[in-house]
Amino acid sequence: MSENHQVLFRKYRPQFFRDVIYQDLAVGSLQNAFKSKKIGHAYIFIGPRGVGKTTIARILAKRLNCERPDGVEPCNECTSCLEITKGNSNDVFEIDAASNSGVDNIRELRENVKFNAMGGKYRVYILDEVHMLSGAAFNALLKTLEEPPAHVVFILATTEYHKIPETILSRCQDFHFRKVPVTVLQSYIETLCTKEGLKYDSEGLFWIAKKGDGSVRDTLSFMEQAVIFTDGNLTGAKLRKMIGYHGIDTFTDFLNQLIDTSQSAQIFETLENLFQSGIDLSKFIWDFIEFLNSLLLIKDNLADRESINIPQEDLQKLKQNYRELDREILVLLAERIFSIHEKLNLMKLRSSYEMKVYLEIQFRKLILDREKPSVSGLLAKISELTKLVQGDISILPDSIEPVKKQIQTPSPTQEKPNPNTNSQTNTKIDSPTPETKAQISSPTSLEKNTNTKETNPSGNHPEDMEKLLKEKFSGMEVDPKQFKNL
Ligand SMILES: [Zn+2]
Repeated sequence: MSENHQVLFRKYRPQFFRDVIYQDLAVGSLQNAFKSKKIGHAYIFIGPRGVGKTTIARILAKRLNCERPDGVEPCNECTSCLEITKGNSNDVFEIDAASNSGVDNIRELRENVKFNAMGGKYRVYILDEVHMLSGAAFNALLKTLEEPPAHVVFILATTEYHKIPETILSRCQDFHFRKVPVTVLQSYIETLCTKEGLKYDSEGLFWIAKKGDGSVRDTLSFMEQAVIFTDGNLTGAKLRKMIGYHGIDTFTDFLNQLIDTSQSAQIFETLENLFQSGIDLSKFIWDFIEFLNSLLLIKDNLADRESINIPQEDLQKLKQNYRELDREILVLLAERIFSIHEKLNLMKLRSSYEMKVYLEIQFRKLILDREKPSVSGLLAKISELTKLVQGDISILPDSIEPVKKQIQTPSPTQEKPNPNTNSQTNTKIDSPTPETKAQISSPTSLEKNTNTKETNPSGNHPEDMEKLLKEKFSGMEVDPKQFKNL
């Protein structure tokens, strides 16, 4: 990474406790330690990368050795403070435990702590990535932590709490640092934009903050790149282009094409256009899955979650637009497309063209399946049928009134059915279309059933039931005989 990418982070690195964003719990506890003059000898800072652990360790070191502290804050003007800011203090040692993980490094450190502070009051040891120490090194460190010299303060920092031995943890005061929420990062970088005279819009800041993933350092690092890419104009449209995200309009169009079967053909046009533009289709599909998941979160009123990948101003629009959309359809689509994406990754296709062909086939299949009845629709039908078979004919629609009458007053002709009556009754009921007939059941199975002399527990005849079942399953690709014995 070039020098440029570090500029903002270095320039705006907090030098006072009060300038640290979001870590109020840790900062407040440290400030209280100064107020009550109860300074510990070993602290451990736990939390994700880039949230301020090392920054706060340095401010703490400064305040400990400051010649003219201002209450709980260091002055940042005395020789000691300035030396620590420049990183050339003789009393503050920053050690990267990842590259000094051996027992010899810690033995050397143990020898070093015996010396008194040269300029300040304390010798401060900041051990970054302390979880990287070897077992023997931890044991050596433990001996020092058990009997620390009065003038020594250890500040251990780690991203991996679970890798720190219990014996070490029990000797330290622990401070937990949290990921910084997107909204907090957004308003923080907004103040920086004002200071830097950069143009921006709310969506642009959202994408920068999202990219930072809770880390101030990563956010500023990405902002630095974004300033170069957008020529200092941090708008949503430019940022989306930079990160290769399509924006909700593309995804809402794609979703509408999937929901509305009359628009299905456009799905293939969209895929073709994306392919022609050289877009990574796998990433597009993944972003669309995330979009569907976000819609479900919006429907469940969980849209304020940090993980949601939609700018705040678009949330209300989506909530309104998809208020009527069945949650089940969204889950079904998300699940199916997730599975398509999973297979896509496993297949290791040779080219983006093969990827496009694969997606076209999968989406065609999905559309065909979408035209079938939904599971809840099917279950509702089964429930109605169960009641029907048990003798509750009041649930029948009026369109099959003749059948109702026949069921209520069985006639001798019904005892011994004749094929003509059967076809007559069938005509009076809303006849299924030939296509539907084909979907429902094969003629052979119907014929076979008509000849059966069985009656069901409610006394109705099989041929009547056959009609009713046929009616109930109109339009469904299900053989009604499967449900006859419910
Ligand atoms: Zn000072």
